[in-house]
Amino acid sequence: MPMSRPASTPPPRESLAAPAAPAAQVQALLRDLTAYLRSLQEDGLVTVESSGVRRAAPAAPAPKPVRPVAPPPAPAPGPVAAGDTEAALRQVAAEAAACTRCGLHRTRTRPVPGQGAPHPDILFVGEAPGEDEDREGLAFVGAAGQLLTKMIEAMGYRREEVFIANVLKCRPPGNRTPAPDEMTACLPFLRRQIAALRPKAIVALGSVATHALVPSDATISRMRGHWYPFEGLALMPTFHPAYLLRNPSAKREAWADLQAVLQKLGRTPPSRPAAAG
Ligand code: SF4
Repeated sequence: MPMSRPASTPPPRESLAAPAAPAAQVQALLRDLTAYLRSLQEDGLVTVESSGVRRAAPAAPAPKPVRPVAPPPAPAPGPVAAGDTEAALRQVAAEAAACTRCGLHRTRTRPVPGQGAPHPDILFVGEAPGEDEDREGLAFVGAAGQLLTKMIEAMGYRREEVFIANVLKCRPPGNRTPAPDEMTACLPFLRRQIAALRPKAIVALGSVATHALVPSDATISRMRGHWYPFEGLALMPTFHPAYLLRNPSAKREAWADLQAVLQKLGRTPPSRPAAAG
């Protein structure tokens, strides 16, 4: 006789759930899914956040390559209008008058910025104002200045037709040699004057002025008589008139230097002996 099932016992129920996958199979699936997500991340298609996986925002289009464009060429330096030159020279003079960049402002009587024609053939550059210049506020008005005037006239110019300046705009006490820091402090004024004047030739008078514009270990005796470039201009060193007053025999060489300047400018000196003598 078959045994009857107790009425209170439910019949065995068939499980509705899928049969459990083996653990190794689940791990393999997870590995595949992880690898797939990583590849989507790397392609920028999804972002993985703690809250879940999001579709990444579409990537911005790559910028088109920009062809490098050469900057427009700087305008060639042209002649400076007379008004501009004079304004630039006045500006330098005004700044030098108010300048306290070096200690010479304490002992000067008047600043000596320099004076002359705004578009000269020649710029004469000396060392520093002396006693007479300090008193009058004008460059080369003492004994050396009078000799310089003769040299200029011997070249066939009038003093007002050239420009005369010094590296230093204030007198060193006792006419001592300018200190290096004083030269460094003041040289920008002369550079601005030269940039405004754009003379056809610069004549550097003496060792200090020459070495301020043409750094060199050579003596003025070695450098004089030779041309040197200075910011696109031609510079001729020669002896300082004060030296020529003390050493008259050197005037012959100084005159030869000035004749070379005239030749450079396409001019011939007046047919009279050099007034530098
Ligand atoms: S020498 Fe030149 S730098 Fe010195 S105080 Fe005079 S203007 Fe200024």
